[in-house]
Amino acid sequence: EKFKDGLTKTRQSFAGKVNDLVARYRKVDEDFFEELEEILIQADVGFDTVLELVDELKMEVKKRKIQDSSEVKEVIMEKLVDIYEGESDDLSQLNVQENDLTVILFVGVNGVGKTTTIGKLAYKFKQEGKKVMLAAGDTFRAGAIEQLEVWGDRAGVEVIKQSEGSDPAAVMFDALQAARSRNVDVLLCDTAGRLQNKVNLMKELEKVKRVIEREVPGAPHEVLLVLDATTGQNAMIQAKQFKEATDVTGIVLTKLDGTAKGGIVIAIRKELNIPVKFVGLGEKMDDLQEFNLEQYVYGLFA
Ligand code: GDP
Repeated sequence: EKFKDGLTKTRQSFAGKVNDLVARYRKVDEDFFEELEEILIQADVGFDTVLELVDELKMEVKKRKIQDSSEVKEVIMEKLVDIYEGESDDLSQLNVQENDLTVILFVGVNGVGKTTTIGKLAYKFKQEGKKVMLAAGDTFRAGAIEQLEVWGDRAGVEVIKQSEGSDPAAVMFDALQAARSRNVDVLLCDTAGRLQNKVNLMKELEKVKRVIEREVPGAPHEVLLVLDATTGQNAMIQAKQFKEATDVTGIVLTKLDGTAKGGIVIAIRKELNIPVKFVGLGEKMDDLQEFNLEQYVYGLFA
């Protein structure tokens, strides 16, 4: 249900267009596929992915001897779900340690919804009965620490911070000590999101990671890159840059509720080869969903 609501804009635009296409073409032909390609590209599925998808679709339609355009819709859904080929849903699960500290690092540029996502996830873990702590590792942006504290209050979890401008690695060190001594289950770590200076960002992320690796063997257990779905190709560019800067283990795609171009989920998965672990479907505390491709695709056409 959450998926369905959050995808309203994309569904109305994308599924609306596909339904209209099917209504206009009784028979499946080249023109039909060309229009379908256009619809998928407009939904931000990604150019290469669309070409591949439509090729597979054509083959499948031929193989099954499908003539009626109304039957193609099913095949589109199947092929969209197939895009994760052989990978189980487990991929979207977080690597959470049983009975030990789990450290999750969040990266992403300012404004994408990083703080909001940390707050939502803190709430989610707390609902599961876990003890959660936040580390205010964005010491660069004015107001970032206070904003994280607001979310900490909302979720009812402690925030470890230092003053603005202090060394993020030192904040992380403090947070790791505090998490250990207070038997915290999950430590969620914010980081600065300035991509303008890539070299500094890389250095900072490396330093923060080194501290975490040294203090907690095996950590960070996840490095989640937060991307804003409404920014389309910009999100793809950011993802490529962060992928170069650090080992990203998963993506959180925010503001999916705010775009009609929800096909970006498919493009990200296919072109970056990083699993989408969560999607943001609103501004409220419980508007974060574990990503499930099947639910997503069927949500698009529901
Ligand atoms: P940060 O700079 O990356 O930490 O971004 P914030 O967490 O401050 O979020 C920026 C804006 O995006 C805020 O107004 C949030 O309420 C909004 N936002 C974050 N996630 C979502 C989402 O999934 N859906 C919608 N509609 N808004 C979101």
